[in-house]
Amino acid sequence: MGRKFFVGGNWKCNGTVEQVESIVNTLNAGQIASTDVVEVVVSPPYVFLPTVKAKLLVNLGVPWVILGHSERRSLMGESSEFVGEKVAYALAQGLKVIACVGETLEQREAGSTMEVVAEQTKAITGKIKDWTNVVVAYEPVWAIGTGKVATPAQAQEVHANLRDWLKTNVSPEVAASTRIIYGGSVTGASCKELAGQPDVDGFLVGGASLKPEFIDIINAAT
Ligand code: PGA
Repeated sequence: MGRKFFVGGNWKCNGTVEQVESIVNTLNAGQIASTDVVEVVVSPPYVFLPTVKAKLLVNLGVPWVILGHSERRSLMGESSEFVGEKVAYALAQGLKVIACVGETLEQREAGSTMEVVAEQTKAITGKIKDWTNVVVAYEPVWAIGTGKVATPAQAQEVHANLRDWLKTNVSPEVAASTRIIYGGSVTGASCKELAGQPDVDGFLVGGASLKPEFIDIINAAT
């Protein structure tokens, strides 16, 4: 079974009511590829959920959560172990999970990218059995909010290694069906080439998800 392209908008704590309304209007007006081709999820700040739910012309419950984001790992001190527990708990509550993993610049420069990503993923694999409702987001910390997007080759390398890791440590089926999306300074300009990589199954987008170019990112695979 093919992996449906997945694009998440991580709005973080951004926005006033007016800005949120404007983003939602842009999304509603945008020409977006069919939902057969792309799955789109937006993650507004908690206080704006009612506004977004009332206005967005899609089937919006709150079925997805973003867990393990590097800002939670570093600022809130969430360990890999704790993230694994949160993933298992969220799935048990019927939520779907975008689970984030990724190395810091120091770790990349020390050559330990895959080790870090494997350790963070292992803490999740140890706690869950069913991967149907999990999307893994590879988000190198050095790329988040910095304007320094990973090159298509850098992203593809980690995604392919991570898929191999899942094949060996979970199962070939889970490796083949689980979407691995890339996050970190994705823009309308960089999304097409990244989306062309065989193991890049979509994006988790911060800054650019607040702008009209989010529509281009949603359509990157078409
Ligand atoms: P960015 O954020 O696209 O602004 O780099 C990505 C994220 O934090 O998920």
